Amino acid sequence: MPNALFSVPKAVNETVLSYSPGSPERSRLLKTYEKMLGEEVDIPMFIGGREVRSGSLRECRPPHDHQRVIGRYHWGGKEHVEQAIDAALAAHASWSSMPWFERAGIFLRAADLVSGPYRDKINAATMLAQSKTVHQAEIDAACEFADFLRFNVQFMTEIYAQQPESSPGMWNRMEYRALEGFILAVTPFNFTAIAGNLPSAPALMGNVALWKPADTQVYSAWVIMEIFRKAGLPDGVINLVYADGALVGDLVFKHPDFAGLHFTGSTSVFKHLWKEVGANIDRYKAYPRIVGETGGKDFILAHPSADAAEVATSMSRGAFEFQGQKCSAASRAYVPASLWPQVKQHLVDDVKSFKMGSPGDPSNFMTAVIDERSFDKIASFIEYAKSQKDAEVLVGGGYDKSKGYFIEATVVATTNPNFRTMCEEIFGPFLTIFVYEDARWSETLDLINRTSEYALTGAVFSRDRYAVDEATRRLAFAAGNFYVNDKPTGAVVGQQPFGGARGSGTNDKAGSILNLLRWVSPRTIKETLVPPADYRYPFLG
Ligand code: NAD
Repeated sequence: MPNALFSVPKAVNETVLSYSPGSPERSRLLKTYEKMLGEEVDIPMFIGGREVRSGSLRECRPPHDHQRVIGRYHWGGKEHVEQAIDAALAAHASWSSMPWFERAGIFLRAADLVSGPYRDKINAATMLAQSKTVHQAEIDAACEFADFLRFNVQFMTEIYAQQPESSPGMWNRMEYRALEGFILAVTPFNFTAIAGNLPSAPALMGNVALWKPADTQVYSAWVIMEIFRKAGLPDGVINLVYADGALVGDLVFKHPDFAGLHFTGSTSVFKHLWKEVGANIDRYKAYPRIVGETGGKDFILAHPSADAAEVATSMSRGAFEFQGQKCSAASRAYVPASLWPQVKQHLVDDVKSFKMGSPGDPSNFMTAVIDERSFDKIASFIEYAKSQKDAEVLVGGGYDKSKGYFIEATVVATTNPNFRTMCEEIFGPFLTIFVYEDARWSETLDLINRTSEYALTGAVFSRDRYAVDEATRRLAFAAGNFYVNDKPTGAVVGQQPFGGARGSGTNDKAGSILNLLRWVSPRTIKETLVPPADYRYPFLG
């Protein structure tokens, strides 16, 4: 062990590259994209450092070009899940006792691989697998992922530096042990960065993990795993298995060494998993940590003093980038009658100007939604809106899945503030707007607060500071990430720690010290410097 208290490099957010026409990054990335589009890769699971091929193959197809196969992955069964748990537990002793700075070195190296030599590959994989535009891939797969890794290393040292006071005659210390057992990381399709962060944040703190990604994100998960291995992550620390969620849950939640769940995905799946954990509580050696970031019904509220162009732009970007498939995407909006004509005009013009198509053409603002199930669900919401008397489709409303799962950006105006699409998460390019009378600003705050089960993100637009203050206070529990004069998407690690409350999750704020605290079990050590040698206290004399 070195005789030194090391400090780590100060974390700085990765610069988002522009990919503007003629830039070197643009031609490099598009070349990588075309190359990967033309290949059919074989994607194994990773268990105990081994590449595992079950022979039971499933296809990876780009959502915007679903007739094309870009890879085949090996589907796992019961034995693979069991092997992954065993491999994780076998790695626990050496990994959890490895000096923290060695773990830091691995993940700092992973960050530099992501932002350096792997930047094009991880961005191209995200464009292909999840149909993200160049810009959406860059802010997610390259920048946010590198940020998670670098900031988490810094936060880890801040946690370790927190030490108790010591009165005279004693020395008190706190060590931040890993959890005893293994972590299950269950990740969503929509962010490559989140997929990488959910297993690696606990691993950084000394834990071992089984990682189950979403089926539609396997292709980019495979690139993440390649980076972790290249960074020197020891065998068995993170084990990547592609298998049925219910099967994984069944085996993991009955295991006595299950120590924690790190989940991001829908509210209904999270609630189901929490129930499973509860039902099996008597089996576990310790109380498992449960961290879940889930759905949203995110709002934009405009005050009569707001600027119409700013409000409309926040809707165009906040509701439709990545086809509205961000948990933070604006999906309900409240606009005062006095401002509505201008907002409507600007928004409808914007939406009509959107280009939609393959991410291989960087001039497209929107691409396809993730899969057929999602496509059908969103299309059914569109048909529902078209059929209702209290709603009107202002723009969009078309969809076509012949080549890719393309759905037009759709804006619906409703006269019913409790219209179904004002309340339920749709997870697609679908924004519903309720126009309120200017005089009803105050009631509108209450309405927003009680309309949905979620409380993830929300935004207020106003040039009147009293209104900003009132909305901030009255909507204190309506969003875990609240924006003033900004769209409700685009949280940056280290700057806007992310997570919501109510039905939106446990609000453990990914990309902050609060999240890492869930993956440690502190041990307090008290040492008495000169122990007493006589039991009699002075007062007994
Ligand atoms: P999903 O709930 O369908 O899937 C998430 C993961 O859970 C996937 O890996 C899936 O295979 C797995 N899963 C599904 N059923 C399971 C079961 N019975 N047992 C174990 N695992 C199971 O979500 P998704 O479609 O991948 O992602 C979209 C959802 O994620 C949206 O609701 C969105 O709001 C949410 N999300 C939230 C945040 C956040 O930070 N709050 C971030 C991203 C996405």
